[in-house]
Amino acid sequence: MILAKDQLTGLLDHLSTGQARLYVPARVDATSRFALYGPGIKTAFNLVSTMMPPKDLLFPQTQKMYRYGFDAEGVPFIDPVHDDDEVIAFGLRPCDMASIDCMDEVFLTKGYADEFYTPRREKLLTVVIGCTAPAETCFCSSMGGATDAAPTADIQLNETTDGAAYTVKAHTEKGEAALSDWETFTSDGDGDPIKASCSLVVSMDGIKEKLDTMYDHPLWERIARKCVTCGTCTYVCPTCHCFDIGQNNRMKEGERFRSWDSCMFSSYTLMAGHHNPRADKMPRVRQRFLHKLCFFEDRYGRSLCVGCGRCVEKCPVALDITELIDEIGALDLPSATDASRATDVPRATDAPGATDAPPAVASAASVADAPPAMTAKEVGA
Ligand code: SF4
Ligand code: SF4
Repeated sequence: MILAKDQLTGLLDHLSTGQARLYVPARVDATSRFALYGPGIKTAFNLVSTMMPPKDLLFPQTQKMYRYGFDAEGVPFIDPVHDDDEVIAFGLRPCDMASIDCMDEVFLTKGYADEFYTPRREKLLTVVIGCTAPAETCFCSSMGGATDAAPTADIQLNETTDGAAYTVKAHTEKGEAALSDWETFTSDGDGDPIKASCSLVVSMDGIKEKLDTMYDHPLWERIARKCVTCGTCTYVCPTCHCFDIGQNNRMKEGERFRSWDSCMFSSYTLMAGHHNPRADKMPRVRQRFLHKLCFFEDRYGRSLCVGCGRCVEKCPVALDITELIDEIGALDLPSATDASRATDVPRATDAPGATDAPPAVASAASVADAPPAMTAKEVGA
């Protein structure tokens, strides 16, 4: 099936009149992100990727969870707030789709299904457009992805080599069903899709095994010196998923909400009694990289970095995860074995004071993501 490029606007106009809310890459003020399609929107399908990732469609930056209070008879109530509107995310990149796969692992697997993520995910239709000109910061092909393939997307488009159309393919039943609504704008046929490759390449060979032995390596202290702990890397990252929970009380009623948090902030691990296992910068920087490249793989069998390059582009001090991977790759370290990891590598519970600290308030997502011996926030992001 083919979608001619001159039919794209007609298709978007049509989809936006349906039941689902349609989100597309757009320029909004000084930034770019997935925005609700409608009059006046500045679509940005030409961007390699949006500055802000699409994760807020599933995991909003601030999300109401419950309303609570007393009803007219004085009976207490707690009402969960679930947003289960149908949503179409049109124009995701393959790395964005891979990041949604990571989020699905955290919020939907290992015996735990997040009650606020689940309905949003079930009602989301994902439409990926393959990349034709990756940025110099893109390295998805080194992280198990590909610029022209998103096998878990509902629908995948790829620009044809003549630049006039997209090939259209459904990967899921949901995608197949959705395509029946595209028929006025598509035609039968096949095109030759563009296959682009990332110029930025890193080798992940042996990186996980080396990181298994590197908890106390002096490299972390040197790397961390550069970091100004602004948290930008975690906010622009499509896979960072940690949150804090707060509440607004108004007399006899109130709301609980969750909002994105960042492991780069010292307050992130601050516990009751003012104990803080990561008060210093080095353990926070180390945690971020170990979670991306090591701990997540321990639990889910895949990296938590999809190679989108957003943090590489936006870190104000150029603390570059690809340079770190190269540096680790060049280190002459013995490979870790399960035995050496179990006995030699300190875990979060080895941190001074970890055992006598009062338990942290644990978020569900963080708990689901945590190796068993750690507190929730130790492995948050
Ligand atoms: S964006 Fe860079 S400086 Fe800011 S917290 Fe992340 S690594 Fe540190
Ligand atoms: S760590 Fe950086 S490159 Fe990797 S997914 Fe997050 S923002 Fe993208």
